[in-house]
Amino acid sequence: MGHLSAEQIHWLETTFGDRMTTRRVERKLYSHDVGEMPLLIKPLIGTPMADAIVQPESEAEIVALVKWAAANHIPLTPRGKATSGYGGVLPVKGGVVIDFFRMAKVLHVDVAAQTATLQPGIVWENADRELKKHGMTLRTYPSSYPSATAGGWLAQGGAGYGAFEAGWFRDNVISARVVLGNGEVGMFDGEGLDMIYEAEGITGIITEMTIKIMPEVPLDILSIGCPDAHELQHLLEGFMECNLPIWSMHFINPRMAALKNQAPPMMHQGHPVEKHIELPETYITTIAVRQTDSEMVRAKLAERMNTGKCKATLLSDEIAQHEWANRFRIMTVKRLGPSLVPAEVVVPLSGLGAMLSDVETKIAQPVVKEGVLIRQGRNPKGEPEVVILGFIPADQRKLSYNFVFPLSLTIARIAEKYGGRPYATGLYYSKMAPKILGAERARVMKEFKAKADPAGILNPGKVIGNALISNALIAANAFEPLLRPFGNAVSTDVGEKFPDKPVRGIPADVAWYAYACSQCGYCVQECDQYYGRGWESQSPRGKWYWLREFMEGREKWDQFMVDTFLVCTTCELCNLRCSASLPIESSWMKLRGKLIHEDGKMTFPPF
Ligand SMILES: Cc1cc2nc3c(=O)[nH]c(=O)nc-3n(C[C@H](O)[C@H](O)[C@H](O)COP(=O)(O)OP(=O)(O)OC[C@H]3O[C@@H](n4cnc5c(N)ncnc54)[C@H](O)[C@@H]3O)c2cc1C
Ligand code: SF4
Ligand code: SF4
Repeated sequence: MGHLSAEQIHWLETTFGDRMTTRRVERKLYSHDVGEMPLLIKPLIGTPMADAIVQPESEAEIVALVKWAAANHIPLTPRGKATSGYGGVLPVKGGVVIDFFRMAKVLHVDVAAQTATLQPGIVWENADRELKKHGMTLRTYPSSYPSATAGGWLAQGGAGYGAFEAGWFRDNVISARVVLGNGEVGMFDGEGLDMIYEAEGITGIITEMTIKIMPEVPLDILSIGCPDAHELQHLLEGFMECNLPIWSMHFINPRMAALKNQAPPMMHQGHPVEKHIELPETYITTIAVRQTDSEMVRAKLAERMNTGKCKATLLSDEIAQHEWANRFRIMTVKRLGPSLVPAEVVVPLSGLGAMLSDVETKIAQPVVKEGVLIRQGRNPKGEPEVVILGFIPADQRKLSYNFVFPLSLTIARIAEKYGGRPYATGLYYSKMAPKILGAERARVMKEFKAKADPAGILNPGKVIGNALISNALIAANAFEPLLRPFGNAVSTDVGEKFPDKPVRGIPADVAWYAYACSQCGYCVQECDQYYGRGWESQSPRGKWYWLREFMEGREKWDQFMVDTFLVCTTCELCNLRCSASLPIESSWMKLRGKLIHEDGKMTFPPF
């Protein structure tokens, strides 16, 4: 396997026309995800770089691509919106990245059966908008709803809002159509989905999926404050015992509340467009319940809050509405980092209090957390589980990032101590597949892949692979107690701190924002410039990433990039979409001033 020959590029050009690119900047932008590995271990990933990116429009095109790739031994890496952070979309062996941007329709809605059939590239927010036209809605969605794709979530697996009632996403999928590595098309349902769900494309390319949906009804939202982790567990267990018809339940920890209070507001045309709501620095649990059930649920919850065993209080409606309206902006605190070290785990509810307290005791860094409750977990007894997404603010540009990073292993070890497990495999945790997927399932998946993908072209190195980086993380895990004091010794000063002077000519504030961008992709789909062109370089997310590369000396201005920064339509939609409330459009305007007035650059031809 290796780089593409002229003949192979010709085949791609003939098959996909202008829906294919080998432009170097796009190849770079389609070769990473939201994760940022520390510099000391990053070389172990190698230099993932796509040789080409294609945007198929139909399953038939994918079948043709897969057959061609198998015959030519060319790796294929499927890519939704790259919002997962486990390296699953990294083309570690080069080859072709498949972008599903042009396969993004709701194909069918069956209101009576409460099902919908989706193409893989549809973003959840867009799918939901379509469903709402039929009076229906999603049963569950990830907090990356404004950017993550249907195919990406099925391939990656996970739980999101609504999981309290709907369970893991797996429980909401009826069937999936998949192109296997030998070019055959298969339909997977029931237990067969085990070979597709969480397989991250190593067994096949998802081209269609049918999911369960539900009628859209008005929701009542309430938020409850509780000062202590053990009391929080007690409270949530009490809620579970009542067996109430709650749709969604999630919480944030006191540290997250404090940093949300500190985060700058969203700006539009130079003015803040949101009211500052001061959150109490406590565990805040936010609950969504159908309005028809709300009176009964509120009464029962109040009983459980007043058992004398915990000091829970009902917070104001203003806080509840604010928390719900901002549920997709969990990365808002990244602006204060400007980087975040992520740690994602699943713990049984019965171990939640001890796990959260242990993290506070063992980790001296500020750990912000969000937890999503699942009433019926994926464990032998179906006991309630909590998915915990933790972040430690840090700065990837500093040496200290290398020391803070292993604290994510500390969090994973603590979770395991209380019966938990890491969240996903991808590239980085592929050696932990038996623990994450279950030993038997990992074994069967390996066997299935050998049959379904005999040439080994589908997303090589992922999920059940043997990547160097994954081996290194396993080794680091063994030394975790020795590494921990170094991470704890780092002094972390959370908050926006612009550099003293421009970085390679990039204004100091813009330089900070480039790193504060979480790469979540919320700005991509709605950006005027991106929508008309369809390539990542034309989106705010792509531009921020390019600026990092430029500031680190790996890129330089050329006419294409000058045009890219100058042709923004100044619509400012991105400012309103940004999960970190970055002043995007005004940053481009600053760069426009610099490029034109200071550097004497123009678009060619001038506009
Ligand atoms: C702000 C934020 C919030 C998040 N919240 C949640 C959450 O609440 N719950 C949760 O589970 N996750 C969450 N995530 C993680 C991530 O958003 C999800 O895993 C999401 O489903 C990934 O979708 P994607 O389109 O970005 O897929 P990608 O990241 O592009 O791909 C994920 C994996 O699937 C493979 N793949 C993509 N498309 C296909 C296809 N058509 N066929 C086969 N394989 C394919 C890719 O190769 C990759 O291995 C969050 C991430 C962010 C940034
Ligand atoms: S202001 Fe520019 S970058 Fe932002 S959404 Fe509009 S076109 Fe895109
Ligand atoms: S600019 Fe904002 S919305 Fe876009 S990827 Fe970055 S953080 Fe996300």
